[in-house]
Amino acid sequence: MTEIQIFIDKIKNSQNMAVLTGAGVSAASGIPTFRGQAGLWKKYRPEELANPQAFRSHPDIVWEWYAWRRDLIRKVKPNLAHYALVEIEKKIPAFTLITQNIDNLHQLSGSVNVVELHGNIMKSKCIDCNLPTSDNLNLKAGLPYCRSCGGLIRPDVVWFGESLQIDALNKAQTAAMECDLFLSLGTSALVEPAASLPYLAKANGAFLVEINMEETPLSSQTDIFLIGQAEKILSEITHYL
Ligand code: NAD
Ligand code: ZN
Repeated sequence: MTEIQIFIDKIKNSQNMAVLTGAGVSAASGIPTFRGQAGLWKKYRPEELANPQAFRSHPDIVWEWYAWRRDLIRKVKPNLAHYALVEIEKKIPAFTLITQNIDNLHQLSGSVNVVELHGNIMKSKCIDCNLPTSDNLNLKAGLPYCRSCGGLIRPDVVWFGESLQIDALNKAQTAAMECDLFLSLGTSALVEPAASLPYLAKANGAFLVEINMEETPLSSQTDIFLIGQAEKILSEITHYL
């Protein structure tokens, strides 16, 4: 059997599967990943803007970057990788899709059990009291402030140096510990604590598969590493399920 055939067999026999997705899954939809030139906006690297200190000192620049990203994301559609995951979810009794993406494309494509580890770029909240807000951002009218406490409104995403929402992290860790098959898909496997989830799954007996365009620190630890585009490999696999 080829490695792809073994993976198909594992999916068919899985009672509980967890998938961790990263920016590579949305690359074919036209959303740039963070690594490499395409991730730059103006002259900034994402790490320089996506952190609380940057927001406190230059909220206008950080908001301008998010407004640009929101516009980009509003225009794109899910791709074959997102739709393949919807098909796989239908075949498996227990299925958890853990995503580091903030672009909402898994929900848009029809995935049901989605855990958003890093928040959702379309949502906003108060930086001081955490109150969610549905106010539409209009930067021309100035920066947005909280109606309740007057604090600055910020994007509801997890920034570098911040902790994850405990609920989301608990769900993700439980899914990793309970699954019999774990797939790491289109993620550089570098950003903690998401990066530890595949190891947690493996330590608890799961079969570990990775799909990525290039090797990552995780690749040598996997049972199967499939090199290539997530959208191509996954859509091929769904033909055989
Ligand atoms: P990353 O940018 O660090 O890595 C992307 C990975 O995807 C790389 O390993 C790359 O080799 C791989 N890849 C690229 N195209 C692929 C394809 N077509 N098929 C398979 N693999 C492909 O992204 P990350 O690991 O998700 O972590 C960075 C952080 O950036 C995350 O916290 C996430 O919140 C954020 N982010 C999100 C989005 C989004 O929501 N779409 C986009 C950029 C960054
Ligand atoms: Zn507030």
